[in-house]
Amino acid sequence: MPEGDTIFRSARALEHTIGGKQVTGFDTGLAKLASVNDNTPLVGRIIDKVESRGKWLLIHFSGDLILVTHMLMSGSWHLYRTGERWKMGRSRMRVVIRTADWEAVAFNVPIAEFFTARTLERNSQVPKLGPDILSDAFTVEGGVQRLAAYAQQSPEAEVGNALLNQRVLAGLGNVYKSEVAFAAKVHPFRHIDTLTPAETERIVEFAHRYMQANVNDGSDAIVTYSGNRRTTHSMSREERLWVYGRQGHECRRCGAAIMMRRQGAGARSTYWCPDCQPWIGEGAEPIGHATIVNRRKVGC
Ligand SMILES: [Zn+2]
Repeated sequence: MPEGDTIFRSARALEHTIGGKQVTGFDTGLAKLASVNDNTPLVGRIIDKVESRGKWLLIHFSGDLILVTHMLMSGSWHLYRTGERWKMGRSRMRVVIRTADWEAVAFNVPIAEFFTARTLERNSQVPKLGPDILSDAFTVEGGVQRLAAYAQQSPEAEVGNALLNQRVLAGLGNVYKSEVAFAAKVHPFRHIDTLTPAETERIVEFAHRYMQANVNDGSDAIVTYSGNRRTTHSMSREERLWVYGRQGHECRRCGAAIMMRRQGAGARSTYWCPDCQPWIGEGAEPIGHATIVNRRKVGC
């Protein structure tokens, strides 16, 4: 049975492979989906984003259309290069999304439905996102309340994981997870219930500030979407990062060696400065790798 992290990885693989691409073909064996596709065709739309929320996988298309699938016991998403042989029979295919180079195929998914942003908001089964850091309605105060509420519900959640959890705050990606924790001087492996109110506020403030700066300077997307991340990254942008991707390099503030350690169900890389972000909590301080590695690209 697909667990949450399997779906998370499927979403990530789909996002990396077809995120940002244009749909060139769509096929489905499900009547309801076919009828939506007849009325509002998928071909020509851009795959804006792929995300997981619990056991649900959401594929967002441009023009306000969201394909939501639930895997239950038997479903799975596969990725094939165009022309590659499928590993499951055609009779089990439920959905195929084609781009110029790839086919994303959902086999045996028992639940698949199209939503708009509005109908999804009204649906009670698919978990809701937290407040969107980039929306006009977002306030630091509201973000602080959301983090505090989450700390009550999951006191042992690690700060880095909480920042990536889109049901707590929506918008932060893996790069800014580390950057925000550094700016707020908070060790990313601390349990969220060890945060002081001032630390929580700093975290939300920096999240808000960085996300806005990131959008406003036109180099956005490193947070939301790997398609652009690969093409827009530049030396100057790397220069701007405090810790992300800087394992073993000197902290720009204090000179200590930046550490990296994998974190959470998705084993995402997390970077921090052991001096600027002291460990607070029970148990030993989590130690990361601090040997310099040659990274060919900034990624995750
Ligand atoms: Zn430092």
